[in-house]
Amino acid sequence: MKLIFALISFAILSATQFSFAGINEDSLVGKKKVSLSFYDTSSIFQENWKVNITFAYADKSYSAAQTINLTDSMRGYSFPIESKVTSPFGKRGHSFHKGIDIPTPKGSEIRAAFDGKVRYSTYNNGGFGNLIIIRHANGLETYYAHLSKRKVKANQIVRAGEVIGLSGNTGRSYSPHLHFEVRYHDKPINPENVFDTQSFCLRNDSAMLGELILKNNKKHRTTPPVSEEFLAKGTVYSIKPGDTLSKIARNSGSSVAELCALNNLDQDAVLRIGQRIRVN
Ligand SMILES: [Zn+2]
Repeated sequence: MKLIFALISFAILSATQFSFAGINEDSLVGKKKVSLSFYDTSSIFQENWKVNITFAYADKSYSAAQTINLTDSMRGYSFPIESKVTSPFGKRGHSFHKGIDIPTPKGSEIRAAFDGKVRYSTYNNGGFGNLIIIRHANGLETYYAHLSKRKVKANQIVRAGEVIGLSGNTGRSYSPHLHFEVRYHDKPINPENVFDTQSFCLRNDSAMLGELILKNNKKHRTTPPVSEEFLAKGTVYSIKPGDTLSKIARNSGSSVAELCALNNLDQDAVLRIGQRIRVN
């Protein structure tokens, strides 16, 4: 019920204009546009909002049948660091690995997976080391652990693809890597059910929470990589946080319709940070 209320209030808010801290609506990537005031008024960012506690929900229940939108209101996405996963989610010896491990040289830039609000940014003594937790408009939380440096503070609004910290080896970690988790109401979800870790694209625009939480979602959609041959025939632009098709069209003397036709994109396509498109 609260989720329904949140979605309704979100729909109302998204119709209003805003301008805040140099970010304006036009600079945001994606389908539906969320007013920044959504982060202050939505129950998602008020209830169980604890900046000093790792697991904020305790034993709050959830409905496995509810649908989690991964693109609406999320305005783009970014795999936190585009590098190979070496330790997957799941049973690992006598314990359960609640995230995925991505080895990366110390000091590598770690990016927010989706737009959201930082709920937690502190040194965690439970093994995570320097840990950042971001809560997203769909209720998911993403965890970024073992960082050498945290670049965002609790209650800060971040955008998909924004650098939030640098990778490291803090906490219970034996070599520099990012430990990345996706959770809903503290319940861990296999990040590889959300992201294809080969292409670094989202698997689906939305998914049932129950399917995300269950071990392996076989109905994975893989976005084919754009061919190098196609890219080599024109000028290539790499999507950055805050980009929209209209902004890219304006800067390249093109139109949204032309960009879409050329790259075989929907006008309201959710753009992946780092995705390469041709501008002519
Ligand atoms: Zn790990």
